[in-house]
Amino acid sequence: MLRSIGWSVHIYERSDHDLDSRGGGIVLQPDVIEAFQRVGISDQALGVVAHERYYLNSDGSIAQRMPMRQMLTSWNLLYGSMCRHFPSDHYHCGKYLTDIQPNGEQVTAIFADGTRDTADLLIGADGPNSTVRQRFLPDAHYRYVGYVAYRGLVNETELDEDAAALFTERFVFYQFPNSHILQYVIPGENESLVPGERRFNWVWYVNYDEATELPRILTDKENKRRDYSIPPGMLAPAVEQEMRSYADTVLAPPFQKLVAATQEPFVQGILDLGVPQMTFGRVALVGDAAFIPRPHTAASTAKAAANAIALADALVKHNHNVIKALPAWEPSQLAYGRQLVASGQQLGDRSQFSYGTSRFGENSDTLQQRV
Ligand SMILES: Cc1cc2nc3c(=O)[nH]c(=O)nc-3n(C[C@H](O)[C@H](O)[C@H](O)COP(=O)(O)OP(=O)(O)OC[C@H]3O[C@@H](n4cnc5c(N)ncnc54)[C@H](O)[C@@H]3O)c2cc1C
Repeated sequence: MLRSIGWSVHIYERSDHDLDSRGGGIVLQPDVIEAFQRVGISDQALGVVAHERYYLNSDGSIAQRMPMRQMLTSWNLLYGSMCRHFPSDHYHCGKYLTDIQPNGEQVTAIFADGTRDTADLLIGADGPNSTVRQRFLPDAHYRYVGYVAYRGLVNETELDEDAAALFTERFVFYQFPNSHILQYVIPGENESLVPGERRFNWVWYVNYDEATELPRILTDKENKRRDYSIPPGMLAPAVEQEMRSYADTVLAPPFQKLVAATQEPFVQGILDLGVPQMTFGRVALVGDAAFIPRPHTAASTAKAAANAIALADALVKHNHNVIKALPAWEPSQLAYGRQLVASGQQLGDRSQFSYGTSRFGENSDTLQQRV
């Protein structure tokens, strides 16, 4: 967005290799499409259409169908589209930001390898563990909310025919006490939108106690405790087996087949984060660095796009004067972030904690009896 209004931009990414293409599905929202249109990225082939929603009964039959058109995409398609549009000589990998020095007319970013860069504006788009946020708001940290999302991807050709027919080009849900699972079709790993080359993408919300259970779930197969997620292929075998058995016990049959067909499930803890402030002189926080709404809002990527669109607009409106533009940009972005976080809390708590905090069907006789 900044390049589209005439700025020279450099991106510094800590990872020293191309970012992993194993990310999963994303609901494509209007803000992302608008951002792509404004900067000249084609929006012709950005996702897969789901024409309707299905809610299943426990035996797998359809309880409710609802016409609802949505566009679904994948993290790797969005990331690939942006990368191809951005000059590679301005994208610097292996640059871990460690500190920031504001110096009046400009701001300096300092990296772990000892290099630095000075600019008019520094944007902290550095995600949930943001170094930029920690530098300016050391007390603002995310909070685990009491459940995780198990996730998985299955190639279209690798799922049982009946389940595939039910799931193809539909948003399908199965809700049961204190949990729900959903699926939609997303582009293939190579960004293909061709039927037969795409993937079924599922997300399943499961409650785990933070003190007594979460540490085990977030310890990977190499016995390393991760902050909030474990990528595909790295779940501890016992955790993966437990998840698969639990799926066979409680999910509707089409979802049992989907989980069983998944080769490398992954998991992410669900977090809440909100900051009281998004600007610090010539520094701005955007995206997940500032607010993490729960995934039920399907809004994280859209919020990042909305932050960027509004920032570019504010800079143009204030004649590219950063010191005037940032305070003008901040209030609406804080309000939007707060609104999404609150809406995600409401949706998630209703789904996961209507019957206390237990997991249905597992060490929870009381929950089973009440339902
Ligand atoms: C590999 C990956 C896969 C993802 N897959 C999905 C998905 O499948 N579905 C979904 O809904 N969301 C996914 N997300 C999250 C989604 O991208 C974000 O919610 C949303 O796009 C907002 O992005 P963001 O730029 O604010 O944060 P992020 O996407 O988290 O990006 C932050 C970036 O900053 C880099 N970074 C962090 N600290 C430093 C530092 N100190 N110095 C330099 N660089 C730093 C990180 O390496 C990362 O590339 C994924 C994120 C990543 C990084």
